Amino acid sequence: MAATTVRAAAPAVSSSEGYSAQLAVVGGGPAGVCAAIAAARNGADVLLLEQGGCLGGMATQGLVNPFMTCYDKTGETMIIRGLFEEVVDRLVACGGAIHPRECRAGTAFTSWIKIGHDHCTPFEPEALKLVLDEMCREAGVRVLFHAAFAEPLMDGGRITGLRILTKAGLETVRAKLVIDATGDADVAARAGVPCELGDKAAGRIQPASMFFRIGNVEYAKVEADIQANLNNFYRKDGVNYRSLHWRVTEAREHGDWPLKRVSIGLFRGVREDQWAINTSRIMGVDGTNPKSLSDAEAEGRRQVQIIFNFFRKYVPGCKDAVLLSTASTLGIRETRHIFGEYRLTTDDVLHGSVPKDSILLASNSVDIHGRFGPLSNQYVTVQNGNWYGVPYRCLLPKGVENLLVAGRSVSATSEAAGAIRVMPPCMAMGQAAGTAAALALRGNSLPREVDSAELVSTLKRQKAFLG
Ligand SMILES: Cc1cc2nc3c(=O)[nH]c(=O)nc-3n(C[C@H](O)[C@H](O)[C@H](O)COP(=O)(O)OP(=O)(O)OC[C@H]3O[C@@H](n4cnc5c(N)ncnc54)[C@H](O)[C@@H]3O)c2cc1C
Repeated sequence: MAATTVRAAAPAVSSSEGYSAQLAVVGGGPAGVCAAIAAARNGADVLLLEQGGCLGGMATQGLVNPFMTCYDKTGETMIIRGLFEEVVDRLVACGGAIHPRECRAGTAFTSWIKIGHDHCTPFEPEALKLVLDEMCREAGVRVLFHAAFAEPLMDGGRITGLRILTKAGLETVRAKLVIDATGDADVAARAGVPCELGDKAAGRIQPASMFFRIGNVEYAKVEADIQANLNNFYRKDGVNYRSLHWRVTEAREHGDWPLKRVSIGLFRGVREDQWAINTSRIMGVDGTNPKSLSDAEAEGRRQVQIIFNFFRKYVPGCKDAVLLSTASTLGIRETRHIFGEYRLTTDDVLHGSVPKDSILLASNSVDIHGRFGPLSNQYVTVQNGNWYGVPYRCLLPKGVENLLVAGRSVSATSEAAGAIRVMPPCMAMGQAAGTAAALALRGNSLPREVDSAELVSTLKRQKAFLG
């Protein structure tokens, strides 16, 4: 990463009465940061509450990498733009990312996966932390780190305040509007919005994974091993096998692979000697249950150790690899999905439906890990057209009037959420939620009263791609 001028994020000013803002955004992940920046740029006074010590959520604390595709199905047009593109451009400018136009499917940047993985964006998590701090500071977003949302204060179907836990104890935030970007719909669920945990009918929830990063990898040797085995790399039915399953078989034969996974997800980073590893798999974790989450964190680290040892012993070019870091928080793919004014379905995604109030277009495939048991992965891509739309109504929860939800927990079935949960769409949802909140505040109205045509035209003016 090249040297960059860094200024601190704007301080969150406290008083003995607590905090107040026009808009409180809860959760500083990809969705929440974009929501806060978009709202502030559109004139709102914004307080962003984050339980951790940095912005970026899964992208930084979870070490999730790369940003999944932001292009249409043909791979010709970049369709997730706006704040996402601005973040990418700033990262590229400081050497903290490689532009997605250069990262094609079937290469080391995508773990050689082809379906749904064209034009990913590898980035440095440390650079992302700095870029997001800087963008919040420039927009005038007040950021309060180490502030965990605890419970809403309610007056009927309206949130009047938030109780948060900080190092100062339990404190109160007063806000006219709230955006829930916790990924888990913590605010919505506790405010009484109906939610579904995972896929209730199927009795299934996507598995969790502990990401880690390794360094000192000899890229050419890894690539040569993959190329030498390309003849048995892809499954006959077109679904991708992941990389290095031949090395996993070898390790298993020697008693060095006690895990169920049969292959490795390894993604080349900005530097060719540094890789993000997405391979550990913990089934049945409930990310809203502290005990389940705690057990899974430790299990994730145990699996990382096994996988890292495997790399050093069995993977060409990794004999001298070093463990750079494990994620400081477990990767949770799925918890609650809210029920909102509209529920996105798999049919909408696969049939390329684009409702009038679409606030983003995406082509990400339905990506369900473990759908057929612990070994499986499946990517199903949009079939009619090159993209589908996510309507504004998916961000409007049932039952609570001054709340918007953005990111992984918006109103979608478990399968449809499997497509839009990746980081570029989450950032676009955040931008839309923040913009809608600012419009509502400006008009002294509620989010559901915002004119979706005005929202769409504002997003377009602010560089979102909407066809
Ligand atoms: C293992 C794994 C692999 C993935 N692979 C990819 C990939 O390759 N590419 C891709 O683009 N996407 C990938 N994803 C998906 C993507 O990382 C997430 O779905 C996305 O980050 C969701 O964004 P978000 O802002 O909704 O939530 P998050 O990123 O989870 O951010 C939520 C933020 O809210 C904070 N928070 C939560 N609860 C509270 C609270 N009560 N009070 C205050 N703060 C709170 C959290 O600390 C966090 O910062 C992967 C996810 C996982 C788990």
